[in-house]
Amino acid sequence: KLFNEVQELKGNIRVYCRVRPFLPGQDGKATAVDYIGENGEILISNPSKQGKEGHRLFKFNKVFGTRASQADVFSDIQPLIRSVLDGFNVCIFAYGQTGSGKTYTMSGPGTSKEDWGVNYRALNDLFDISLSRRNAFSYEPNGLVVPDASLHPVESTSDVLELMEIGQRNRAVGSTALNERSSRSHSILTVHVRGLDLKNGSTSRGCLHLIDLAGSERVERSEATGDRLKEAQHINKSLSALGDVIFALAQRNAHVPYRNSKLTQVLQSSLGGQAKTLMFVQVNPDVESYSETISTLKFAERVS
Ligand code: ADP
Ligand code: MG
Repeated sequence: KLFNEVQELKGNIRVYCRVRPFLPGQDGKATAVDYIGENGEILISNPSKQGKEGHRLFKFNKVFGTRASQADVFSDIQPLIRSVLDGFNVCIFAYGQTGSGKTYTMSGPGTSKEDWGVNYRALNDLFDISLSRRNAFSYEPNGLVVPDASLHPVESTSDVLELMEIGQRNRAVGSTALNERSSRSHSILTVHVRGLDLKNGSTSRGCLHLIDLAGSERVERSEATGDRLKEAQHINKSLSALGDVIFALAQRNAHVPYRNSKLTQVLQSSLGGQAKTLMFVQVNPDVESYSETISTLKFAERVS
């Protein structure tokens, strides 16, 4: 409820930044994340660059530092997810370079409960609520579109877990190949929710899209050739088309260029209008990632 009120004031697009910690074995590495403020500020610095080139301050709706847990992140977005039950369409994106924590935020690093990312927590919450509200309303979260684009009806969180575990098992087949593939493709999980008000018979339909985007890193011409280069250019094009759409919506432009990519065409009915959008912009703390981080945050700043 509160979220909806805040949204009416601020528009329907918000951007949250999340910084991943250094990984085991990376202790002592230099960090580019200099300062995180309480009001969404983040200062990125590179001591080896002089003057203005070496610092950049950004401001988002919120910044989650390295100590934020999966539960902390979820509790902040829970009202947004629940608005799907009121018939809103919601898109949640994770954007950032490969290795910055997109999959950690959306899927989580494992299947134990504290590891659960936004995907599991959101579905679990929607099922819980729909069961508890059965007296006055009946909700059916159904139609889960898994990344291979097939539609699976689900009736409980355990159905969802089972589907996701099948996905994980397929991953285990070739984890290197999969990491490579997942960094070169967008993964979209869609949940349709149908609500029925048992008192007056009115119905509502809401839709939640959970999107783990392809890695945003720019591929230099010298590093890739042939199909690999074409693929990288295709990803860059679809990410910038997404940025253009969200930017046009944030500016309330009359023309929104949905048609410039498959991704924005697929999501068209859930971007703009009454729909709500949240982007997690993921940051790798390494100083070596400084210029990639700056370009990631510039992309996010433009749409926030
Ligand atoms: P991406 O999907 O952007 O390529 P991953 O989600 O695979 O990145 O994260 C890269 C590595 O960092 C993984 O080993 C992941 O478990 C770890 N990681 C990411 N975010 C966090 C976090 N907030 N806390 C702990 N480890 C994290
Ligand atoms: Mg990933």
